[in-house]
Amino acid sequence: AQARGYAAAADKRVGAFKGQKGPDGNYTVTLIEGDGIGPEISQSVKDIFAAAKVPIKWEPVDVTPILKDGRTTIPDEAIQSVQKNYVALKGPLATPVGKGHVSLNLTLRRTFNLFANLRPCRSIAGYKTPYDNVDTVLIRENTEGEYSGIEHVVVDGVVQSIKLITREASERVLRFAFQHAQASGKNKVRVVHKATIMKMSDGLFLNTAREVAKEFPEIEFDAELLDNTCLKMVTDPTPYNDKVLVMPNLYGDILSDMCAGLIGGLGLTPSGNIGDECSIFEAVHGSAPDIAGKGLANPTALLLSSIMMLQHMGLNEHAARIQKAAFETLAEGKTLTGDLGGSSKTHEYAGAIIKRL
Ligand code: NAD
Repeated sequence: AQARGYAAAADKRVGAFKGQKGPDGNYTVTLIEGDGIGPEISQSVKDIFAAAKVPIKWEPVDVTPILKDGRTTIPDEAIQSVQKNYVALKGPLATPVGKGHVSLNLTLRRTFNLFANLRPCRSIAGYKTPYDNVDTVLIRENTEGEYSGIEHVVVDGVVQSIKLITREASERVLRFAFQHAQASGKNKVRVVHKATIMKMSDGLFLNTAREVAKEFPEIEFDAELLDNTCLKMVTDPTPYNDKVLVMPNLYGDILSDMCAGLIGGLGLTPSGNIGDECSIFEAVHGSAPDIAGKGLANPTALLLSSIMMLQHMGLNEHAARIQKAAFETLAEGKTLTGDLGGSSKTHEYAGAIIKRL
């Protein structure tokens, strides 16, 4: 099962890759190394890609936030690079809590309208966790819901945050989910929601799903309440293996971390932020400031994200070769980083993968 694609590419689907090879036979990919452990884990991916002779050229960009017309944004060069290349690999970016600039991660999602967050979650053979048979895919609406950023004080001691759901954004992410189900062979889509309580907002998402489902008569479609999904998934994740789960923003954020826990944690979970024009691939974890600069970080999640990126770009053979080498290294269990119970440094683990290519 692990040889299967994380992000099967198809020409006509929502968010299909539009980039072209340059005259030298390489694609150019924007690289945002990120903060904290970002540079260390990016180096591992660069080393492994170079050894595997992946036909891409990295274009590193600086995303130090700038203030423009009173809004936080990223430098024009970075925006232009992603727009030109249609694809980026991104390390984690630190976000100040409660003050300072708005989340750069949110800024990137909004700047490039990355409407779907694709989070596959698969058990890694040889790495022992409570369950060894998890193989699910979560798709999270990535632009609105509770993350719309519209909050205000009503009176002292009372605040309102707006949960924004639109038919347009719902339709886009739902269509992507059905197309992903088709392309990945899962053939079942389940909407996770709380339309019993949020009758209008989640109700709109659910009703839109029922409409979009009519365009895909060969894909089985059903719906489940979020609390029920959580209970059932931690009890037995197996029934979710043949499904693509799709849901509004906040539910996807939380449920995907729960799923990450089922397979051994954030060090092993990749993701892709998909838009109509551009897509940005990144690990689910953050900048891990507690271990930054010490050579202790596990680069697996960023590497798996880069494998998703290769599949998105149609470079399936390179993706499969690197994935096989990484999974064999993990299964052998001799060269693991500290978070997986080993004592190897980041570069030693990357070196072990390179030896297996
Ligand atoms: P975190 O994911 O950075 O770290 C949580 C724990 O997991 C830490 O103990 C850390 O050492 C460990 N960890 C995470 N990734 C690891 C890896 N690859 N290898 C080994 N151990 C790893 O979460 P946090 O501490 O809550 O956040 C730190 C910063 O990252 C914050 O500024 C936060 O806003 C930011 N963040 C960014 C993103 C992103 O860029 N997409 C995502 C989440 C958090």
